[in-house]
Amino acid sequence: MSLPYAPRFAFYDGKRQSGTSTSSFQTIDPATAEPLANIHTTTHAAIDSAVVSAQKAFPAWSATPPIERARILQRAAALLRARNDEIARIETSDTGKPFSETSTVDVVTGADVLEYFANLVGGGGMNGETAQLRPDAWVYTTKNALGVCAGIGAWNYPIQIALWKSAPCLAAGNCMVYKPSEFTPLHSTALAEVYAEAGVPPGVFNVVQGGGDVGAYLAKHPSIAKVSFTGQVATGKKVAGSASGEMKYVTMELGGKSACVILPDADVDQAVDGAMLANFFSTGQVCTNGTRVFIPEAMKPEFEKRLLEKMQFIRPGDLHDPNTNFGPLVSKPHYDKVKSYIKHGIENDKAKLLCGGTEIPSWLASHTNKAYKNGYWVQPTVFTNCTDDMKIVQEEIFGPVMSILTYKSVDEVISRANNTDVGLAAGVFTKDLNLAHKVIAQLEAGITWINTWGESPAEMSVGGWKQSGLGVENGKKGLEAWVRNKSTLVEMGGAVPTVFAKL
Ligand code: NAD
Repeated sequence: MSLPYAPRFAFYDGKRQSGTSTSSFQTIDPATAEPLANIHTTTHAAIDSAVVSAQKAFPAWSATPPIERARILQRAAALLRARNDEIARIETSDTGKPFSETSTVDVVTGADVLEYFANLVGGGGMNGETAQLRPDAWVYTTKNALGVCAGIGAWNYPIQIALWKSAPCLAAGNCMVYKPSEFTPLHSTALAEVYAEAGVPPGVFNVVQGGGDVGAYLAKHPSIAKVSFTGQVATGKKVAGSASGEMKYVTMELGGKSACVILPDADVDQAVDGAMLANFFSTGQVCTNGTRVFIPEAMKPEFEKRLLEKMQFIRPGDLHDPNTNFGPLVSKPHYDKVKSYIKHGIENDKAKLLCGGTEIPSWLASHTNKAYKNGYWVQPTVFTNCTDDMKIVQEEIFGPVMSILTYKSVDEVISRANNTDVGLAAGVFTKDLNLAHKVIAQLEAGITWINTWGESPAEMSVGGWKQSGLGVENGKKGLEAWVRNKSTLVEMGGAVPTVFAKL
């Protein structure tokens, strides 16, 4: 049977590598459950070859002046922008996210980050520091590339994640072997070809395909200097454990259960807009989602009324229709997982179901594309009267499921918001900016927002606290994660200082 997309293989030495696999699987269109492409799992021997390709490319690439690397990466950013819609369509097919999102967020925010790091290293970002110790002695530091690095991606923002890892990695002079999620691998070949066309030398950016076993082999590979991982907390702990045990550098971008705090003076309408953005964008499949929505007790009736009125503006449907703003979940296993959480919320946690639930969405029955009935569509769901001990309030669902919790005092809400093992994101909605800063300062999370949610520009370093991760991506600090420091003390006094001189 012919499939909509060409098969995907490993990519190294600057080209697609067929014959690097003894098994394959299919990536699936989440809107219809129909196969999109055959993905050929990269064998261990071929992963070794991809690493060797990167090792061979490293000496010349790391010695290329930063401004020249910047020029090449800027060309790649321009190519990504020129192909925005083409790549966005690939992402829509693979992830199930509406084209209205993928065409305005996924490729754009990836290209922005590539341009940012190219400009940063081109403008002196790789320079070290000097310290004059005495008139005839000083210390200087240099930033040195790490070598061959592994990037391992999650399925929710595939090309964006690939770019958030590869952009600073390559800009700093490293080479990368990247493994996309097995659920959304299509973008990886497109990105490798964009880099090649822009003039990134063969071996500098490479791709291997497959699931967790391929990721585990890559992360443990003795020639890998660093592992940058995005995924679940449980997987991240395994990967960080094995990588850091071998003294590899690690960056871990993991899951969360973030608090969205509506302060007592907030405008209810704005608070509802914020809470919806923090829960239903990308069908709730955003790591930083504010799924624990804390509202003052007195605001509850009005908040819920306005929320129910605005839920109708969530528009599932044809993913290529520019008005569609809600897609299916990414895969059958994830669909089953999210539905089981909703069922648990109703039957075991006994939270009050304000809207949504486990029923098949009613609009599917009349949709013109009959295949949509087989897709992984769920209803956006809101639970209210929630309590902190409920499973739906404690665990990351990673779907369109909002939990409303009420509070009496600001001190109480801060302490309850922090009462979790994870600390990825948090945010507040209020007209009182003094209070906003006081509350934000006390929230235990690495990414925070005031009166907005979810925007993550290239300039903003992002990373989780507690179990949500290690290190940051993006911003100036993001570059430091891809270099190692060398400090040199220079003595010019004319004589080597010694304590072993003849008395
Ligand atoms: P996952 O942990 O199941 O998989 C992530 C990647 O790891 C995949 O490529 C997978 O093949 C690979 N993998 C699985 N087992 C491995 C192993 N033992 N060794 C090495 N690699 C292995 O995560 P997912 O379901 O793909 O992604 C969803 C999760 O990602 C959510 O928890 C979400 O919060 C998180 N996420 C975090 C961020 C962030 O920036 N903090 C961004 C996006 C997603």
